Parts: sequence; C-alpha cells; structure tokens
Amino acid sequence: MRIGRPPWSDLVTLAQEVLRGSPQAVARLISLVESRPAEAVPMLRELHPHTGRGHIAGVTGPPGGGKSTLIDALVRLARRDGRRVGVVAVDPTSPFTGGAILGDRVRMQDHATDPGVFVRSMATRGYLGGLAPAASGAVEVLDAFGCDLILVETVGTGQAEVDIVRLADTVVVVTVPHLGDGVQTLKAGVMEIGDLFVVNKADRGDADRTAIEIKMMLGLAPNDRGWRPPVLLASAVDGTGVPAVLEEIARHRAYQEAHGLLDRRRKERRRQEILMIAEALVRRRLLDGGGSDALDGLASRVSGGELDPYAAAESLVRRAGLDSRTRL
Ligand code: GDP
Repeated sequence: MRIGRPPWSDLVTLAQEVLRGSPQAVARLISLVESRPAEAVPMLRELHPHTGRGHIAGVTGPPGGGKSTLIDALVRLARRDGRRVGVVAVDPTSPFTGGAILGDRVRMQDHATDPGVFVRSMATRGYLGGLAPAASGAVEVLDAFGCDLILVETVGTGQAEVDIVRLADTVVVVTVPHLGDGVQTLKAGVMEIGDLFVVNKADRGDADRTAIEIKMMLGLAPNDRGWRPPVLLASAVDGTGVPAVLEEIARHRAYQEAHGLLDRRRKERRRQEILMIAEALVRRRLLDGGGSDALDGLASRVSGGELDPYAAAESLVRRAGLDSRTRL
C-alpha cells in the first residue's frame, strides 16, 4: 500500500481517476505521456471514447505578442461562464512555462487554486515520443477530463509547432501593431492557418492599420473554407476586446459544425495523428533489438565507401522484419 494515495487508487486505473474528475490524476497521466509514453498508451486508449467534446483552440504568434496574457484573460472569462478550461503551453517564451518576468508568473498563479482550470506547460525538448504526440496526448487527457475549452499555446515556428497547431479546431493568431516586416513573416508562416486574428496591444495605437494590412492579405489569399477569418483588436492587459475573441472562437466552432467542417477537420487531424504514431512505431521497430548498433555499423560502412545509403537503409528495414520492397 502506497502512502499518500487514496486507498482505491490501486484498484482503478489512472484513466478512470481522470474520468472521475481527479486533477491529480490528470497531472500524473500527462507526466506519464511525457516521460513514459509506452505506459501511457493503454490509459489514452481507455480515455479515447470520452474525448471529442472539448473545443481545442490553438493560440499562436510571435513571442512577446501577448498570447499568454490573452489566454489568461480568456480563461478568466470562460470561468465566469462556468466552463472548465485546460491550457497546454508549449511556447518556450511563455510565462506558463516560466520564460517571462516574475510579475507574469504571479498572474498565472491566480488560476492555481481554481479546480475548474488546469494549466500545463511542456518543455520543447526531451520527449521520448516527440513533442507533438506528447502535446496531443495532453490535449486528449484534458478533453476526457471534461474541459469545455482547451487552449494550446505555441510560438508558431518550427515543424513540431505546426504539427501541434494542427491539433486545434480553431487557430487564433495573435499579433501586435507596427509589425512592419513581421506581417510578411506572418504571411509566410501562420497566415494560412489562422481562423481568427487578434491585433493585441491595441492600447499602443496604430492597431487599425495593422488590422487593415492583415485583412488585405487575407483578401488576397484564396478562401476555400467559406469562413472569412475575423481580425479583432484587443488589449489583453486590461481585457479590452477579449470577450469578442471568446465569442469569435465559439462562433467559428458553430460555423464549422453547421457546415460539416468540424468533422472534416478532425478527420484530417486523426489522419496526421495516425501517421505520426505509425512513424514512431516503425522507427522504434528499426532501432530496437540491436537495430541501433546495426545502424552504427551500417553508417561506418557507408562512410567508408563500402556501401551506399540506399542499400544500408534496405538492410536496416529487412533486419527489423519489415518489408524492404517499398521504394522511396
Ligand atoms: P507572449 O510571449 O506572446 O505570451 O506574450 P506575453 O503575454 O508574455 O506578453 C508580453 C508582454 O506584453 C508582457 O509584459 C505583457 O504584460 C505585455 N502585454 C500583453 N498584452 C498587452 C496589451 O494588450 N497591451 C500592452 N501595452 N502590453 C501588453
């Protein structure tokens, strides 16, 4: 019998504890997802039938734009409506992950005693199974836990981050006035994936012009989804414009549901997810059971000019008992 745990915890799985509404179980299971994904998988499978209800909103944009401040304000508002909210921060600069000044971190702790809010920060490296699958697992846990709204914060750069943003039903891009070249950067990166744009720090002025620039760029981009992404002004520090952001997030969900787009988007997400998991399984199969040593040996032979990398790859594939007839 382990000390400090409820007596029934040895009889039920962590997944069942999550479904019973235990925030401690949520924290423990997410840690398991991060550190020992293989052990977490049976739990995630158990939770899967209980997922799909929560609205997953990705919040992305350049560091310092006010994503965390906005998330904090959104959480506050959603709580006023009595909704259960989850936050997953995978932004290394986020105050949630400890990247900012003390004042910000104190602000985040306001939610620490609220049982209706679950905040989890994730580092951006060091995950056995990869960051995107870990974030995806964390979102599933929060969904099964009964979070109505799950906010996922990223800085929106890098492939792993893009993979994470793909988890979302709604993508909120946060930007600031006076972007200058930044608007071009946005265009190259997250412009295409934004369902909703927020020009934050509108209290500093010139936000209107930035909003017009963004609208012009959106006007130029082909819109095949029928949804015209709104561009909102906000000042997250004092809460101005934040209710409209929450309303538009909800409206986007309703729009998708009414047009059969949510199922399509979620199916596409599952497609990516299955592929991601399958790739991880194949990679594991290639490297386990001496595969890593075999790879070392093959690498030496390729470096020594004895073997070409294609033949080496086929040999590694064959060695793992996989079919090597597949061609690149
Ligand atoms: P993040 O890196 O995108 O998460 O940005 P933060 O939320 O950490 O905000 C960065 C800084 O901008 C902090 O010092 C915030 O207090 C400040 N900030 C956030 N929103 C606003 C705003 O609407 N107006 C002003 N003037 N400052 C803001």
